[in-house]
Amino acid sequence: MRVARLVLPALAAALLLLVAPGRAAAAGPVYSGTGWKIATKDGIHSLSPKSYVFTFASTSSRTKLTPYAQAVAAQLTAVTGTKFVVSTTVETPPAVGSCPAEHHLILGVKYRPVGTKGMSRAYNCFTDRAGSVDYRAAWGGWAWIDSEYWYANWFSTNATVNSARIKNAVTHEVGHLVGLDHPNKDLDKDGVVEDYECARTTGGYLPVMCAPGLGGYTTSTSGGKFTSRDTPGLKQLVANYGLG
Ligand SMILES: [Zn+2]
Repeated sequence: MRVARLVLPALAAALLLLVAPGRAAAAGPVYSGTGWKIATKDGIHSLSPKSYVFTFASTSSRTKLTPYAQAVAAQLTAVTGTKFVVSTTVETPPAVGSCPAEHHLILGVKYRPVGTKGMSRAYNCFTDRAGSVDYRAAWGGWAWIDSEYWYANWFSTNATVNSARIKNAVTHEVGHLVGLDHPNKDLDKDGVVEDYECARTTGGYLPVMCAPGLGGYTTSTSGGKFTSRDTPGLKQLVANYGLG
């Protein structure tokens, strides 16, 4: 690493001379786009290229959430290029205000984890090593998914829609853990950023990260997936790595 750093300035200068005419300005970090937003308010600016691992808060959480974790891990790996692995590890989430082991994403099921009907919650952390390449990269965290979602017809009497919405709820919380925020925006210019006010997909779906939930695809094949509005945000998280 030290050797690379020593030779880099000379190399960069040589490259600059070669490509200087018409060269675009160096790309800096980007934190929002149409239908997506990065959770800078939580301190997260980027996603690390080093792998992340899903663990579970209890054995019952593992039984219930493993299929959901596997689906979201596969998509995150495909979209970001960072490897997301689902383990069988059971570990207790730390106290609020603390963080789990580096790159651990702990998923748990709990009845009304924040005391409100139908509400889940993600607790995310960022890497606080100022000056390092992974400064403000998603560190990991944990999420409590409300157990009420598995009550009969919780989201819908349509079985397909109901099952897609449960998947979307899990994906939404995982989205927060990896560094996505709610992309809600005052699109109708009435001066208020409202619930469900998010740029939709061309097919009319809300981004899965839209607050207060109920975003995402509702089909049997695409339920639980980050939508075409969310995925550019995931890609940008990776592009922001090393840019502070
Ligand atoms: Zn949320």
